[in-house]
Amino acid sequence: MTASFVPFDSRPSGLPPRRKSRQVSVGGVTVGGAAPIRVQSMTDTDTADVAATVAQVKLLAESGSEIVRVTVNNDAAAAAVPEIKRRLDDLGCHVPLVGDFHFIGHQLLRRHPDCARALAKLRINPGNIGKGPRRDDNFRAFIEIARELDKPVRIGVNAGSLDQEVLARKMDANARLQAPLAGDEVERAALVESALASAEAAVELGLPADKIIISCKVSRLPQMVEAYREIARRCDFPLHLGLTEAGMGTKGMVATAAALSPLLYEGIGDTIRASLTPEPGGDRAREVRLCQDLLQALGLRSFRPAVTACPGCGRTTSALFRELAQDIQDHLDARLPEWKARYPGVDALRVAVMGCVVNGPGESRAADIGISLPGSGESPRAPVFVDGERVALLEGSAIARDFLQMVEAYVAKKWGREGKR
Ligand code: SF4
Repeated sequence: MTASFVPFDSRPSGLPPRRKSRQVSVGGVTVGGAAPIRVQSMTDTDTADVAATVAQVKLLAESGSEIVRVTVNNDAAAAAVPEIKRRLDDLGCHVPLVGDFHFIGHQLLRRHPDCARALAKLRINPGNIGKGPRRDDNFRAFIEIARELDKPVRIGVNAGSLDQEVLARKMDANARLQAPLAGDEVERAALVESALASAEAAVELGLPADKIIISCKVSRLPQMVEAYREIARRCDFPLHLGLTEAGMGTKGMVATAAALSPLLYEGIGDTIRASLTPEPGGDRAREVRLCQDLLQALGLRSFRPAVTACPGCGRTTSALFRELAQDIQDHLDARLPEWKARYPGVDALRVAVMGCVVNGPGESRAADIGISLPGSGESPRAPVFVDGERVALLEGSAIARDFLQMVEAYVAKKWGREGKR
């Protein structure tokens, strides 16, 4: 799915400028710099199950994930990756695949060179690749493979698998202070140090700086925000944002939005993922839509037409308002694939569906096309506004159908050939 984006220098007015970061190409998808903030996701299939993994990668990509990560946790998974890539290519799905490696990534990549070649990026967690000199050797081996194959690397630290040597060093130093810091502040400092020191070590090992992306995932919101702020101040590597282990349902979505929003608002973050736990049998692609909705709500990217609908209140006692709001949303969702193919730019469409005369005309005027339905006790007529002007008064049992026809005509006129003349 293609999407329009707000370039580097034209963020919505009032937002601080975006942090300047390097650009990294991940399988042809640019991350960082002036590139749009990328939406990523991760499969939860057994990677060794080629058919299931191909199906889920395709689902995530078709839902709008621009980069998809798969775990490569053993030889069977590593052996499956080239076939997964081949089948996806055959299906016309060319989304960059990222390999998520822990513990023995360097060994798997050496034993399965075709796996390394098939991947667009390699993720290493410096907190779980061994201790002391062995850790350094494993890190070196991993980075050398990336360098030989010209692959970008994400250095992804995680509070759940923080390098214990770095943490112990920080704790010891903190204990000697006259006014020691709180434990979570020391942990945050250790996370930041682990990420930055690993990135610097990778550069010293010969990996070009424009092949490095950093993430620092933490499940506690304030700690995560502060860690990213500090990393953003201290380096220019692109940053992948995520609140790790966000959780299920509404709680997970709210936590993710609450954690990522202040950073994105401040201009920090070049790529994002929502680590939602799907309900049993739930939809994995929900994490993709959440990222899109978040970026769209902040005015940073536009993925689909936006419907502004009031919540309704005691002034909307009929079911008409809710039904119409739902009908319009369903109609936009159903028509979007065809519209996107025929009318480039249509994802910026703004439609308003309002319940009564209190805020209805104002919001409807502010949208591209909007309708203000009659509230209780109002005359049973619905004014329609196009580009701020009242153009029609709908009434009767076919208000929804008539309004949708007007939306169709508006889209064709504004984004069709006629509109471009
Ligand atoms: S626009 Fe009217 S119906 Fe909608 S919430 Fe406001 S007062 Fe209630």
